[in-house]
Amino acid sequence: MSYTIEQNLIPGLPKEPYVGGVGNYVGVIAHSTANNGDSVDGERNYELTTWQNAFAHFFVDDQKIEQVADTNYICYGAGHTANHLGYVQVELCQTTDPTKFNKAYAMYTWLLAKLLYNRKLSVVDGITLMSHAQVSAKWHESNHTDPIEYLASHGKTWANVVADVTAQYNLMGEEDSVLNVAVLLFTKDDYWAGADVAAKNGNCALFIRSANQSVPAEAKSAKQLIVVGGPSAGHPNEVLLSGKDKYATAAAVAKYLGQ
Ligand SMILES: [Zn+2]
Repeated sequence: MSYTIEQNLIPGLPKEPYVGGVGNYVGVIAHSTANNGDSVDGERNYELTTWQNAFAHFFVDDQKIEQVADTNYICYGAGHTANHLGYVQVELCQTTDPTKFNKAYAMYTWLLAKLLYNRKLSVVDGITLMSHAQVSAKWHESNHTDPIEYLASHGKTWANVVADVTAQYNLMGEEDSVLNVAVLLFTKDDYWAGADVAAKNGNCALFIRSANQSVPAEAKSAKQLIVVGGPSAGHPNEVLLSGKDKYATAAAVAKYLGQ
């Protein structure tokens, strides 16, 4: 699952780096707007003239995710310490409609995960993933307790948010670790032919079947598997470069490389 992030930056925002430097945010803060029936566009319009008091980086409603401030720089969303330490901040627009809530909530938790995943920060409750309520309790620079009450009005707890963001984060890791192409060798005698095939495919990963001829899991999960020597590995998107002996295999490889 993936969503589009629309970018519509508010002009004139300050460009203050985080404590750790430009772009080096340390976590995310989850907010809700406390404004039932609002929308991304309405909130952005409001911030156009009021950003000196407060602004976040993103708004989410049931229709879209919109980025209104550059995540390389601080926003004014949760008090001096959190803002400057470096928290990217996301506002969830509010609705009383459960269907709209569910759509917005799915995008909200996905976005929080994506922002953490982009910097490989992990999902750590109260450290990298904070509610505005947690920020208020930790640094006492604001008294806001969002988005807890709003989530509760739709039957969700903060623990649900942590679990859902974690699930999305883990999914992003799995999707990233899937190889596009891998080469599977039958024995180490196939190495030189296999290395040429891998080179032709941008030096993709090379695997060798183990003594019992089983296929390594990473090779199995690759989007395409090129088998050099030996029998088919049964991969759904397989290129089999293999003959009845090593000469026939070499010929199949040469033909493939000549393409
Ligand atoms: Zn807040």
